Amino acid sequence: MTMRDTDRALVQAATAVVKLRCRSDRHTVATAARTADGRVFTGVNVRHASGGACAELVAVGAAATQGVTDLETMVTVGDRGREVLAPCHRCRQLLRDHFPSLRLIVGPLDALRVAPIADLSPGTGVPAAGTPTP
Ligand SMILES: [Zn+2]
Repeated sequence: MTMRDTDRALVQAATAVVKLRCRSDRHTVATAARTADGRVFTGVNVRHASGGACAELVAVGAAATQGVTDLETMVTVGDRGREVLAPCHRCRQLLRDHFPSLRLIVGPLDALRVAPIADLSPGTGVPAAGTPTP
């Protein structure tokens, strides 16, 4: 899928949040998620020995707090220049179940692309076979 201007803006939103809010070992990743009508919700992860919470889930919860139950596009960016990160196994499973038509922005910053959540294998941490490597 082709990157839209709004997709690039979503990457910029997540990048801004990670630079502003992820300055300790507690918070190391930021997610930005957009609805079909353009509303954007963000979240940062919460690291803890108990397992903590991924940024994707915090963003989903932030959207739900505002009554939003459908997300169109999501991107996650790591701190300290780690660029765009793919969701973990647990998040991929949850995102597939809750938002089956979700678009995920993946890949290196110089070659970002959009992948349907259905095309990403939940178990591997990398795109499923047949999907171009990000
Ligand atoms: Zn996760």
